[in-house]
Amino acid sequence: MTDKPAPVLYWFRQDLRLADLPALNAAAQAAADSGTTVLPCFILDDASPGEWALGEASQWWLHHSLLSLAEQITAKGGELVVRRGRSDEALAQLASETGAGRVYCSQAYEPWNRELEARVGKQLEAQDVSLHTLPGALLFAPGDILNQSGEAFKVFTPFWRRCRSQLPTDKLAQPPGDGAFAAGVVSGLATDDWDLLPKQWQPSPEWQDMWSPGTSGAARALETFIERALEGYRDDRDKPGVAGTSRLSPHLHWGEISPRQVLATLRAAGTDDLEDDREKFLAELGWREFNQHLLYHFPHIDAQPFKDDFRNMPWQANEEGYRAWCQGRTGYPIVDAGMRELWQTGFMHNRVRMICASFLTKHLLVPWQWGAKWFWDTLVDADLANNSGGWQWVAGCGADASPWFRIFNPVLQGKKFDPDGDYVRRWVPELAALPARHIHDPWDMPPMLLAAEGVELGADYPHPIVDHKEAREMALAAYQERSAGT
Ligand code: FAD
Repeated sequence: MTDKPAPVLYWFRQDLRLADLPALNAAAQAAADSGTTVLPCFILDDASPGEWALGEASQWWLHHSLLSLAEQITAKGGELVVRRGRSDEALAQLASETGAGRVYCSQAYEPWNRELEARVGKQLEAQDVSLHTLPGALLFAPGDILNQSGEAFKVFTPFWRRCRSQLPTDKLAQPPGDGAFAAGVVSGLATDDWDLLPKQWQPSPEWQDMWSPGTSGAARALETFIERALEGYRDDRDKPGVAGTSRLSPHLHWGEISPRQVLATLRAAGTDDLEDDREKFLAELGWREFNQHLLYHFPHIDAQPFKDDFRNMPWQANEEGYRAWCQGRTGYPIVDAGMRELWQTGFMHNRVRMICASFLTKHLLVPWQWGAKWFWDTLVDADLANNSGGWQWVAGCGADASPWFRIFNPVLQGKKFDPDGDYVRRWVPELAALPARHIHDPWDMPPMLLAAEGVELGADYPHPIVDHKEAREMALAAYQERSAGT
């Protein structure tokens, strides 16, 4: 041990940025007050999340995001220490190796993350080290927004109305200055040993083109969105064939950009004259807040239905249908396009997420939890609150959910939101030559015309695995059966 005072530890989690990070600023202040520096660390912890260990797409993202964070810290004269193990043990070990008496981190709200914070706090306390946690991931800390009876909102509109009336306006904190971070104090894993990159597959060229993990990628995505897509967002956000949304979701999930930074950038860009579009975009950020708030107050909703009566739902363990859905071979072009976009890019357009989730839960009666798990593994923006919230909303068992009897007709949805078929053509190339009129229902096309375009159903592209009308009736009957059982 040297004479230099022990560093203050900063534990990065889902907050991989340096600016607008209250917990990091508090750590830097505490370090400055005692004439020392901040030792930044990240713990690769597969055990603590339990069944919610990172999926492969998220691991790919994390690898690149950590590289970007490490570079920024190096540029400020510090060094990011990456270790592997259970977070409580690894942090206790780091504290004892460095003599640190204080650990800072941002709060994270997944049930397992909250348990972990408590465990880390206890473990550190046992060796006389204090843990300081501060909010930083949301506009409003969950628990701060309650209804007039002091209870959690269960409906989005009044929740968002309350949030909307008190959006934060305070100045954003700057990143800690040069010299604030420690380097060379303890050793960490070399990048090659992070073991986050996939071994069985390589991200496709589309995937690589589309994503740039890290804070600069996040800032660029926001800037591009404001320049090119904010105007018209209200309508274009529903068109999967158009680049009409921000694609900020993985950046927001990993905290590479905070929602307060997004808000401040919108304000600075003077977007007030785009009132409808801007409000709609803010409301989508509001759904992110709402889902986090729901998971905080009702922590079982990652696996159990929000509405209790759905526990009796007669779901079917339809393995074959589930496999066809995962592979994008259901015979419904808009569903297959979505599932293939997901596989090839780690992303799926929100409208198509709704269509695909509705198809799995209602046309195939497969439990929503199966779909949520597939999304968890394949989405670069996999986020427990948004994923559980999205699935439960579509399946009809969530808070303020779409009613069960709203069963999307995949053909009509395709015709409405992808009228020229551009999206289907891009992701289901075997149908690319079909005219827009028939691209969403190729089975209705006269066989000779279909053959003239080089498509044979059942050979080049599957027949629909279920008939829409029959599936709809079965779904409604299953719902009645559920009600009879309550
Ligand atoms: P934009 O339209 O640009 O919206 C801006 C931001 O607002 C998004 O980045 C996101 O953080 C938030 N947002 C937008 N739409 C929603 C929404 N419906 N619910 C909550 N937040 C929203 N989102 C995730 O981040 N992770 C998930 O794992 C996830 N799983 C989903 C599963 C299903 C079945 C459904 C229906 C939706 C899911 N969503 C999830 C929500 C939504 O699809 C994505 O947030 C959105 O498509 C991301 O694209 P974007 O960043 O271009 O969105």
